[in-house]
Amino acid sequence: MAMLSILRSLVQEVNSARDLQEALDIIVSRVQKAMGTEVCSVYLLDPGSNRYLLMATEGLYRKAVGQVSLGYSEGLVGLVGSREEPLNLEDAPSHPRYRYFPETGEERFRSFLGVPIIHHRRVLGVLVVQQRESSRCFDEGEEAFLVTVSAQLAGVIAHSEATGAISGMSLTGEEAHDVSFNGVPGAPGVAIGNSVVVYPAADLDVVPEKPADDIDRELELFRGAVKAVREDIERVAKRLASQLRPEEQALFDVYLRMLGDEALPGEVANRIREGIWAPGALKQVVQQYVRHFEMMDDHYLQERAVDVRDLGRRLLSHLQEGEQRHLEYPEHTVLVSEELTPAMLGEVPKGRLVGLVSVKGSSNSHVAILARAMGVPTVMGLVDIPVNQLDGKELIVDGFEGQIFASPSEDLRAFYQAICDEEDELVRGLEALRDKPSETTDGHRLSLLVNTGLMTDVVRSLSHGAEGIGLYRTEVPFMIKDRFPSEQEQREYYREQLEAFAPNPVTMRSLDVGGDKSLTYFPIHEENPFLGWRGIRVTLDHPEIFLVQVRAMLKASEGLNNLQIMLPMISNVSEVEESLHLIYRVYHEVREEGYDIHMPKVGVMVEIPAAVYQIRELADRVDFLSVGSNDLTQYLLAVDRNNPRVAQLYHSYHPAVLQALVRIAQDAHAVGKPVGICGELAGDPGGALLLMAMGYDSLSMNAASLPKVKSVIRSVSREWAIQLLEDVLLLDSPHVIKSCVDLALRNAGFGRYLRPGKSTTAALAEQAVS
Ligand code: PEP
Ligand code: MG
Repeated sequence: MAMLSILRSLVQEVNSARDLQEALDIIVSRVQKAMGTEVCSVYLLDPGSNRYLLMATEGLYRKAVGQVSLGYSEGLVGLVGSREEPLNLEDAPSHPRYRYFPETGEERFRSFLGVPIIHHRRVLGVLVVQQRESSRCFDEGEEAFLVTVSAQLAGVIAHSEATGAISGMSLTGEEAHDVSFNGVPGAPGVAIGNSVVVYPAADLDVVPEKPADDIDRELELFRGAVKAVREDIERVAKRLASQLRPEEQALFDVYLRMLGDEALPGEVANRIREGIWAPGALKQVVQQYVRHFEMMDDHYLQERAVDVRDLGRRLLSHLQEGEQRHLEYPEHTVLVSEELTPAMLGEVPKGRLVGLVSVKGSSNSHVAILARAMGVPTVMGLVDIPVNQLDGKELIVDGFEGQIFASPSEDLRAFYQAICDEEDELVRGLEALRDKPSETTDGHRLSLLVNTGLMTDVVRSLSHGAEGIGLYRTEVPFMIKDRFPSEQEQREYYREQLEAFAPNPVTMRSLDVGGDKSLTYFPIHEENPFLGWRGIRVTLDHPEIFLVQVRAMLKASEGLNNLQIMLPMISNVSEVEESLHLIYRVYHEVREEGYDIHMPKVGVMVEIPAAVYQIRELADRVDFLSVGSNDLTQYLLAVDRNNPRVAQLYHSYHPAVLQALVRIAQDAHAVGKPVGICGELAGDPGGALLLMAMGYDSLSMNAASLPKVKSVIRSVSREWAIQLLEDVLLLDSPHVIKSCVDLALRNAGFGRYLRPGKSTTAALAEQAVS
């Protein structure tokens, strides 16, 4: 318990440090005290020189800090780092790897315990404690303590290191260029632009720190917010007076007391007077209160932290209302946020958005899907990036590799500019294919369809030669509103899509919310959202939503007769039967109202493993099947499609996924039903080849991928693709399969459709640094 509370307060202190140096100084001094040792030091691995630098110490000569450094595998520190495990020695100087630095005064110390500081598999440095007496060997408990400290602090250190790097400083204090951060690719392409950091409303954690332009105005805004929140709370208290017991009512008194002039508002006002803008001052005070309450041992007081946070949010939301932040979007805007939302994209003036960067999410997040539709290069899941520091900085977004670069050098900028130009040229060349059929050299045809959500997608896809819509994500128009769209509004959205492609088929999916897709006006909070209430489960529980949607679709299809309806997240046959029952009901009602409509084809999405094993039963009940490989991959591999920590494990070329895809196509065809695919795999040139070989009747993808996929399909024979499929089905590793497919594409002359090799960019970045 003692250990735990030491750890807790250490982490909190380090978290609130101003910069990396302060964080490290706190670590060495607290650890030295807690363990009662003579020396505690931190060495960090400088990525520039690949050497360990002594960054902070308690017990060694202070002047050695920043002076002493060791090669990557030099000395005991290098040994700990390269072996990635603790090293506990009673007599360090007698170890063959011991290195002696007179500058540190180290000869006086004998016992040595070093543990690596590792974050996401990357060794950041080594934490060392030392002791003069050899009789004082560090015991197992101490070793375990140091390992725990290091594991807890690795994230904080990575974060502050990145903060320094963005402001253009390396560990050694020298100017740094081409500072790169790795995430996952969200949408392909390269962008060079200036970043604009946006943050969601009323989220204190992401409020940037900045000075007040006009202190009196900030004070006035803040006072207004306090008054408004007081009134809100008094109103709520009054409204609930009859429903709450007196002791519960007291809660509101606590709130109101916290809003008294002496309490929180007084402290915030003081900070504003010191020159911080109101939201920043509020954030600082709230965080301080929260830390204070959280450290209390009393459970009741710990709970107060929740109240303070809530009050903070309420105040912030009034502040933001009082003065909507007026964002300036430069000519080449790279939008950066903790969590990008579709609404944020909508706010950038037309033609200015060149790139997107999101800390949360991964390549299958909704915003990434939208970005691909719009052709905006995107990087997602940049776990340790201090977002606020990026505001206004020049950034390169490499959406092929999932990398961004801050403070780019001339050389790096030129390198990426060349890639941008090449991409433009490629796209122009492919437009010539627009009216050519998607047919292999040996005469096998398959339909190339497009995935849409916004009208932008439709416009783009028409110019790219799509033969219809394979997936219209109806939740997209729902997401950009602040309430459910009415039947009439829905009818208008749907009509646009249907008309644009008539007489070609337009496949509309019924509302697929839940999981990662949420509607602000219909929030769903669950422990396990991807295994919870989403897709068809929500709409069958809310027939009023489903019925209105189907009615709007059917009415919109009048006179066009090209509507198909698709049901998401089906896990059993009764969901299909219930949905069909509702669709028939609406169909008859709408006809009775006098509309001249036809019964649409109805299909089922295969995205849950259970559906893979019931293809025949499902297919018997509907007109077509469509595989949602994004979800199917996530559920087969048990890898959250939005969690950047496991993004490396999310692999649609996994043999289990490929085997499932083969089986789905076979079983659907065995009962004579067509089967398509509308997950991202369909838009990947290599993936498309394999799916064509498996016999998929249609591939539905984002508009930007369509010309590339078409040109690949038109250049190969089906026989060749089948051979490739047979070869890769014998392999057992997703990475080997990917390389094998890439190689085949390269040999077939499509090397330029693959993203530029990581080695090229990395080598260039290195060259530019040196
Ligand atoms: C899928 O899961 O593959 C799919 C196409 O649906 P969504 O990405 O919208 O969940
Ligand atoms: Mg899905």
